[in-house]
Amino acid sequence: MVERTFSMIKPDATNRNLTGKINSMIESAGFRIIAQKKTRMTLEQAKKFYEVHKDKPFYNDLCKFMSSAPIVVQVLEKENAISNYRTLMGATNPYNADAGTIRKEFAISTTENSVHGSDASETAAAEIKFFFSEIEIVG
Ligand code: ADP
Ligand code: MG
Repeated sequence: MVERTFSMIKPDATNRNLTGKINSMIESAGFRIIAQKKTRMTLEQAKKFYEVHKDKPFYNDLCKFMSSAPIVVQVLEKENAISNYRTLMGATNPYNADAGTIRKEFAISTTENSVHGSDASETAAAEIKFFFSEIEIVG
């Protein structure tokens, strides 16, 4: 089934000018980038985006980091986009990420791990809506 997922290139990666290299891995893996923009979250927006993690010990550092510099937000389309993009991203802790994954290649630490991808169809829909309006998604 062709589906859509939401992706973010995180501040550690935009700071190191890695957007093009990460997009190259995304496109080489067969995803179409059907919407994309560079933006920067306020601390409040980051707290809202990661609300599901609000009771975790890393929540404050995560939200500070995610609002510290610009991000690139994207909608990706592919067969099984949600699970296939999770595979391409690699494990949350880059030490555990498989060779050939974005996080193995580029992540600095468990927090500064270069990319975000939705984990289920409901979260993909909600996360796309958080950043994009219908007219910005061009298919
Ligand atoms: P993923 O991004 O792989 O879906 P989670 O949803 O569990 O991972 O966590 C969201 C983000 O919070 C991670 O991508 C990472 O930036 C940060 N994070 C997760 N677990 C930890 C941890 N144990 N220590 C520090 N930061 C973490
Ligand atoms: Mg997650």
